[in-house]
Amino acid sequence: MAKRDYYEVLGVSRDADAEEIKKAYRKLAIKHHPDKNPGDKAAEENFKELSEAYEALSDPQKRRAYDQYGHAAFDPRARAGRAGAGGFHDPFEIFREVFGGSSIFDDFFGTARNDPSQPQRGNDLRYDLELSFEEAALGCEKEISVTKPERCDACDGSGVEAGSKVKTCPTCHGRGQVVSSRGIFSIAQTCPHCQGAGRVVEKPCKRCHGAGRRDQTSKIKLRIPAGVDTGSRLRSGGNGEAGLRGGPPGDLYVVLHTRAHDIFQRDGDDLLCEVPVSFVQAALGTEIEVPTLNGQATIKVPAGTQPGTLFRLRGKGIKNLQGYGHGDLHVRIDVEVPTQLTAAQRNKLQEFADLCQGNENPKSQGFFEKAKRLFS
Ligand SMILES: [Zn+2]
Ligand SMILES: [Zn+2]
Repeated sequence: MAKRDYYEVLGVSRDADAEEIKKAYRKLAIKHHPDKNPGDKAAEENFKELSEAYEALSDPQKRRAYDQYGHAAFDPRARAGRAGAGGFHDPFEIFREVFGGSSIFDDFFGTARNDPSQPQRGNDLRYDLELSFEEAALGCEKEISVTKPERCDACDGSGVEAGSKVKTCPTCHGRGQVVSSRGIFSIAQTCPHCQGAGRVVEKPCKRCHGAGRRDQTSKIKLRIPAGVDTGSRLRSGGNGEAGLRGGPPGDLYVVLHTRAHDIFQRDGDDLLCEVPVSFVQAALGTEIEVPTLNGQATIKVPAGTQPGTLFRLRGKGIKNLQGYGHGDLHVRIDVEVPTQLTAAQRNKLQEFADLCQGNENPKSQGFFEKAKRLFS
């Protein structure tokens, strides 16, 4: 025999609240209790059915699952077939925690989770925002323009034209489902008249065509903290799509992308900057001006500085997003060898080479000594 609908078993409507369900259960439980009906098989069955229905409908989570999937919600075989989309162990809860309590995955189940008689939270939205290197490093304020479903102001989200009424659906009497019998099976289907809402609107709102929401473009101000980077996500609570039937709005997630910089490279909170000096400056020593995020700084380059030497400017990096101070700025010295020498310059260099007599390059000398040993 097909299982009876739990609401039918308890004799309550589908939108009955917890108190009504409890009352109905108490009344029927007293009536069908086996102690009161000794030896009565039918009463015993009734009582079992009643307990089962009450167990499902008194638990909000189980009730939601039942409302969505009917008895299949508690049937392990049916559940396995749906790859875990139903039942109590919602596989997406894990992701919700990871994603900061959002229901970003609801998008994928938009229709499956949509019970047309219940308030529904609006979907979360994603917005990709590109920032310049400095905007990300120093923080900034941005105004973005987002077009999304907003609560219709003409009907205040009800979807009902002013002066028009909302009636209980005459086809399903507010249940949102119609049950048809096919032989020994009874099949519950979404009511074709009200599409499962249980209510029908005489005249839908002209502005939103009864949806209760309309696409609107709104400007949202964002304060971007210093230290964000590509992949950082900002959550703007309540700035997602408007909810349905009085449900709360979703959230807006702003995913940040940072453009590269001409002279700075970023490594977490640290910055790297390569500064060219001439081979003469490297040999004789000099002072150089280096750029930082907030103005110039001076570095003393000692005589005999080699290419690739790193200088660290403590605290001249990027502000840590979690408030742990600033990173450092690493300056790497790049020694430039002249490529176009005048005749006079060439002569002077030759003179210099003659003066050195092979002792001007301690590093390469050592290298060639070792190489010689290798072949002898
Ligand atoms: Zn409207
Ligand atoms: Zn209906």
